[in-house]
Amino acid sequence: SYPIDVEAIRADFPILNRQVGGDPETPGEGADDDTPLYYLDNAATSQTPDQVVDTISEYYRGYNANVHRGIHQLSQEASVAYEEAHDTVADFIGADGREEIVFTKNTTEAENLVAYAWGLNELGPGDSVVLSEMEHHASLVTWQQIAKKTGAEVRYIRVDDEGYLDMDHAAELIDDSTKLVSVVHISNTLGTVNPVADLADMAHDHDAYIFVDGAQSAPTHPVDVKAIDADFFAFSGHKMCGPTGIGALYGKEAILEEMEPYLYGGDMIRRVTYEDSTWEDLPWKFEAGTPSIAQGIAFAAAVEYVDDIGMANVRAHEELLAEYAYDRLTEFDEVTIYGPPGDDRGGLVAFNVDGVHAHDLSSIVNEHGVAIRAGDHCTQPLHDKLGIPASARASFYIYNTREEVDALVDAVDDALELFA
Ligand code: PMP
Repeated sequence: SYPIDVEAIRADFPILNRQVGGDPETPGEGADDDTPLYYLDNAATSQTPDQVVDTISEYYRGYNANVHRGIHQLSQEASVAYEEAHDTVADFIGADGREEIVFTKNTTEAENLVAYAWGLNELGPGDSVVLSEMEHHASLVTWQQIAKKTGAEVRYIRVDDEGYLDMDHAAELIDDSTKLVSVVHISNTLGTVNPVADLADMAHDHDAYIFVDGAQSAPTHPVDVKAIDADFFAFSGHKMCGPTGIGALYGKEAILEEMEPYLYGGDMIRRVTYEDSTWEDLPWKFEAGTPSIAQGIAFAAAVEYVDDIGMANVRAHEELLAEYAYDRLTEFDEVTIYGPPGDDRGGLVAFNVDGVHAHDLSSIVNEHGVAIRAGDHCTQPLHDKLGIPASARASFYIYNTREEVDALVDAVDDALELFA
């Protein structure tokens, strides 16, 4: 049994019933497909339930129009749905309201928005930005490059041998020169759940801001940005049953109010003359041009979908599968798993099999219909630190079962035999 009704949930995702194995040159046709699909690549992107797909098609079939500036009926309907989507997302993470929710393309764009709109203006020589060694490239590359442009220093909180952040080291690094701490809430490689509220306290003790990368946490955990006391929090719709092309940046209203716009243009202005311009209210000041309207409305539908299941239940389910996968994969002497123990991690397991490159493993596993990821998972410096070029990663979501983990384990067994 499971903490959630997996069978009922699976019925909302017809893609899970398709078979694989045919020619990928004919996407979606599945002509020669004869192997059941086991989709274990959810940390990269999750599948999309009928409710969300229907929301997109209802929009295009029923009230497709540009938002904000129209008086006509369709534009009003689209505007109401698009604007209310911000309220739904705000509620989901405990924000005060739509003023604190900027829709972005994804987590990466949210990170860049703050880097360009705030970092470029506020950082300079003598300032430091504190990251962790387990940051995703979305924050690592962004702050590294903004630091180069501004003369600020980047510091990295050490990851210990078990895959946890060294909090004593964090306390040493975060000092009065620190203007921003940016940390990943749940590592997409190690599965570590970081103590972001403690890091927020450390940052605030030194009048620094904290940016929490919630790409892996918002989809799978109950998140309350006020309880964490995050100044910024970002996540992507496509990792939580939503469409691609939409994500959210949460920012405390007072901070967003002070920040310069990131992109200039239509929809973000109040009054423009040939000489100067003034800005629209939050959050529209940060949403220049025609936004991703259908995606924004469908993002809210995705939030409602996972919220209906209950985020504590979603967490319990992925915790159960991560622990099961961890235990089953540890049965192989040849398998090395990265990160904390099976009973203390997010819903993913990154590993290597002795003598088999992660890419070879992933392609053998693919022949069994099992979809996992192989590579550096956008954490190249962390892979360097671990002394490995790549790893394989299985990641779980609401529709996954123990049987699917078993299919992975059987496929790994097969790979071991092939390479023996
Ligand atoms: N941060 C983390 C921890 C992630 O796992 C990801 C997605 N792999 C990102 C940031 C970037 O998300 P996106 O590609 O949607 O911008």
